Amino acid sequence: MHDIYIAQDSQICKAIFMAKVGRNAPCPCGSGKKYKKCCFLRQNGKTQSAEPQMRFTPVYTELDQLSNSVVDLIAQNKLDQAEAVSHRLLKDYPDQIDGLDRLAQVYEARDEKEKAVEYYRKAVNFARSMPGFDQVSIDWYLSEVNRIKSEK
Ligand SMILES: [Zn+2]
Repeated sequence: MHDIYIAQDSQICKAIFMAKVGRNAPCPCGSGKKYKKCCFLRQNGKTQSAEPQMRFTPVYTELDQLSNSVVDLIAQNKLDQAEAVSHRLLKDYPDQIDGLDRLAQVYEARDEKEKAVEYYRKAVNFARSMPGFDQVSIDWYLSEVNRIKSEK
């Protein structure tokens, strides 16, 4: 039995089974963005307005926007830009995992599988060094390592 969370502002985010979803894993709505920066944020982020009848609007931090933009750039096949933003994430947010797993995605999109595996492994090590990092996401990074290795 899972708790079902209903997002108010998106049909796609209608039902999310929270117990199964890693906060750093891709959102189950299919956006490719991290769950915590997508439907989770829509559900639990701060609202921009105190008006109860206003539509719920999630507030994205610069980190969220940069991290999400890498997903969009990869989808548009703008891989050089996606890589540049990922490096900026690493540099500007060294205490966040985003730069590592985004770079892994960029390298996978480039079909540089060894590098993708290397960065997912870095993400696993980083996550394990962070107290309280959710295990579901760590498991997801590990499953990505195994998936890419099995495709080689
Ligand atoms: Zn979502």
